Amino acid sequence: MPITEVHKCQCNQCQEEANHTDKIFHRQMNLLISRLDEQQRRWYIAVEANRIGHGGIRKLSQITGMDEKTIQRGQQELEQSLADRPSDQIRLPGGGRQRAEKKTQG
Ligand SMILES: [Zn+2]
Repeated sequence: MPITEVHKCQCNQCQEEANHTDKIFHRQMNLLISRLDEQQRRWYIAVEANRIGHGGIRKLSQITGMDEKTIQRGQQELEQSLADRPSDQIRLPGGGRQRAEKKTQG
């Protein structure tokens, strides 16, 4: 048995209909987040919730089983451009001191 079980969507559509358009999408969404770490999961779901707009948080909470507060937190972090969570690959805006680094090798 795998340690991480993929969450089954609890949205109304998936409960009622045997096959609807979003069923595979919801399943894949849960599959995807089962492989992400906690913050990546939060951000991805926040993006999806933003895409839906009104009611998005509740919907995504039903689909993923994620807490609505967690999704809200993800949205807030995204709004702030993940400023508190810089990555090595992305430079934060406003630095702009040096155009390029020259590598001097001896
Ligand atoms: Zn669903």
